[in-house]
Amino acid sequence: MQSESSAFQAKARELAAKFAPRAAQWDQSREYCWENVRDLTDAGLMGMSIPTAYGGQGASFYDVALVIEEIAKACTLTARIVVEANMGGVSAIMQYGTEEQKSLCAPLVLAGDKPAICITEPGAGSAATQMTTTARRRGSKYILNGTKHWITGGGVSKVHLVFARVLDERGADQGIGGFIVICDPATGSYPGGFEVVGRERTMGLCGMPEATLRFTDVEVDAELALTPPSGFRRGFADLMNAYNSQRVGAGTIAMGVAAGALERATRYLNERHQFDRPLAEFQGLQWMLADMDAGVHASRLMLHDAALSRGPDGSPFPDMMLAARAKLFASETAIKVVNDALQMFGARGYGDQEPLERMYRDVRMFTIGGGTAQILRTQVAGKLLGIKTPQTRDAYVDAPLCIAAE
Ligand SMILES: Cc1cc2nc3c(=O)[nH]c(=O)nc-3n(C[C@H](O)[C@H](O)[C@H](O)COP(=O)(O)OP(=O)(O)OC[C@H]3O[C@@H](n4cnc5c(N)ncnc54)[C@H](O)[C@@H]3O)c2cc1C
Repeated sequence: MQSESSAFQAKARELAAKFAPRAAQWDQSREYCWENVRDLTDAGLMGMSIPTAYGGQGASFYDVALVIEEIAKACTLTARIVVEANMGGVSAIMQYGTEEQKSLCAPLVLAGDKPAICITEPGAGSAATQMTTTARRRGSKYILNGTKHWITGGGVSKVHLVFARVLDERGADQGIGGFIVICDPATGSYPGGFEVVGRERTMGLCGMPEATLRFTDVEVDAELALTPPSGFRRGFADLMNAYNSQRVGAGTIAMGVAAGALERATRYLNERHQFDRPLAEFQGLQWMLADMDAGVHASRLMLHDAALSRGPDGSPFPDMMLAARAKLFASETAIKVVNDALQMFGARGYGDQEPLERMYRDVRMFTIGGGTAQILRTQVAGKLLGIKTPQTRDAYVDAPLCIAAE
């Protein structure tokens, strides 16, 4: 009998065969891949991690990782959608949300929505706790003001999880919280004061909008504040626990792209002949191939280890250290592996009749988005050394502005 994990993987492989020939189209047109989203939705892969009580399949992060790897081999863009429909923001809402919040968001994701997580601001990138977007309490509402940029899916997503500095009615700082804001971009329906004001022109992952969102006195019902049991003061730290799953997902995309490049390179070394021999007979290329294989395999093991782990404080999300280490290693390895595969194809790899040039542009992102390689190193070193670094969980709790109200 087929195990549940391998059933998910088999479904993903079937879809990947459909997605591969479409991937260049989204890259060139810079359009969101709605056709793929419909296929993912029909196959039950949007929101597969959502608990069965809310209509999902309760799939584990490990199951999701198996799916991501297969999809990433074919289409990086679509793999990002799988991550964001099952990890990060979705899992934060399903873990910390109220019944009302879960019942509001789960059906949207199951029907094909990829939630947008809104943390980064023009003045607050790696230093996320320096965000200046505010959510000020007014009666039964919070009023959002500020600007977020590089928001993946801005302009196509319905569910938004907007992080903001929470102020009470008197303007006293309560910490950082997440606020669920629902839009319907297809019909142009946005809450008053919510604007999509721009889109980045990116090097890779071109079909995914990376948008700037502006909030001017946007009213959010207080019931839509995502407040972990520990409240706003520790809230950002708790919500960032959920982000460890997103990091495992991002690392898995990078590893999947690298695995796809490795498969292509292996085939090509046998097909292409120079000096009356297949390229496969040249030891210089054999050694490159062996290193690529070792890098992909090590990445996969680290990512699976992280996907199966739990935080030391009993959180249902992957351990911070394992997730940071795995994403760091997998993202840097993937850039090298895809680059080496492209090299093996010579001029053909540099041209667009092969997908490697697109894969190279796509994979370059993964040492930047979702925690840069430098910040992940800082987290890992901080853990090893037992010191607080700006991006560790404890530092979120102790960030001066987060405790100003106490
Ligand atoms: C394609 C893409 C999608 C994204 N999607 C989202 C999204 O959906 N939602 C969202 O909120 N954000 C998103 N981001 C933003 C992303 O999280 C930030 O880009 C990232 O956190 C880094 O911030 P920054 O770009 O402002 O770089 P900065 O923080 O300005 O860093 C610049 C450089 O300095 C280095 N650096 C910074 N601090 C340190 C330090 N203490 N020690 C050593 N080096 C340091 C960094 O590693 C980097 O190399 C996305 C980014 C990209 C590229």
